[in-house]
Amino acid sequence: RRVDNDSHYFDSYSENEIHEIMLKDTVRTTTYGKFILSNPEIFNGATVLDVGCGTGILSMFAARAGAKKVYAVDASALVGKTREIIAINGFSDVIEVINRKMEELDLPEPVDVIISEWMGYMLLYESMLDSVLDARDRFLKPTGLMAPSQAKVLLSGITGDKVHGERVGFWKNIYGFDMSAMSKVHQAEGLIENVPHSEVVTDDVVLRDINIHSATPRSLDFNTAFDLTATRSCTMRAFLTHFDVFFELHRDALHPGKADATKSSDNVTEPPPITPGPVSFTTGTRGDPTHWQQVAFLLKEPIELAKDAHISGQFYCRKSSSNTRELDVEIHYTLDKTAERRTWTVQTYTVR
Ligand code: SAH
Repeated sequence: RRVDNDSHYFDSYSENEIHEIMLKDTVRTTTYGKFILSNPEIFNGATVLDVGCGTGILSMFAARAGAKKVYAVDASALVGKTREIIAINGFSDVIEVINRKMEELDLPEPVDVIISEWMGYMLLYESMLDSVLDARDRFLKPTGLMAPSQAKVLLSGITGDKVHGERVGFWKNIYGFDMSAMSKVHQAEGLIENVPHSEVVTDDVVLRDINIHSATPRSLDFNTAFDLTATRSCTMRAFLTHFDVFFELHRDALHPGKADATKSSDNVTEPPPITPGPVSFTTGTRGDPTHWQQVAFLLKEPIELAKDAHISGQFYCRKSSSNTRELDVEIHYTLDKTAERRTWTVQTYTVR
């Protein structure tokens, strides 16, 4: 059995600061809010499970959108405050706050929708998605909806000027002393950084496209071949990953007869108009910054890129054997796969 450091993990969510950071991330929070509040046909009258409710923000969006019942589950000690928040906002009759680890909980009924904000650095850091998939398999109705319903991890190449300057160059001259020994550790770690979009020097490719309705925990460890094309001539010092998240209305049969249900029920006012199409956000360099930033993987040796050159390789990502909430990443790559003399470089990193 692998180590999983759960008590440390849930302790980290009992502090105010992390919740403040998440709530201040308006890209994150308004996208959930927009999806929930603009789709009353999903939430009106629905039974909802919020996996990892934290301050209760998503549960309150769901209650405001007309949910009949919301199970708000969190293993962290924060839930004392969550109950206060739910009461002050007048939702105690709809939202039931449960202070348990999701995996150890049994619900009295299946649910129509599971909402959860489970994403970590590089999407999968923290391994919280495993808990959400377990909840899906045990409690989601066959016609039920996962929100979000899809997530993608993407890869690109960057000059890495900023991250290299801050994490490596910095140590070269410290009050006149060379402290480069200090930077070695960073080269083996995924570096959490907001990278300027101008530093991206290749196209981006999808490493993993996860359907939250069908993914299995095993499929979250992945190994993908990639082929990036340089968009200009320059020096590339790092790979960069980011992720995109999508909320879709996959399940039409969510509430059988839902159309008449909303019309005929007398205590429900006309729902607001529905925003059509998928709701999504990106954590990439093109979007507004989020608290996830991006994850840069510095190369030991920079690559000199010509425009249209190909960097191809294999990207491995799996739960770390020493701490299953961390990720082990291995990148095998070569410049121009058509070249006669291919040299493969292999670099390993952890994301922690
Ligand atoms: N939904 C909130 C908080 C998201 S952070 C928001 O959007 O702001 C994730 C939360 O999930 C944390 O509070 C953490 O304690 C909780 N969590 C993670 N895994 C869990 C599990 N297996 N069981 C219960 N709670 C969990």
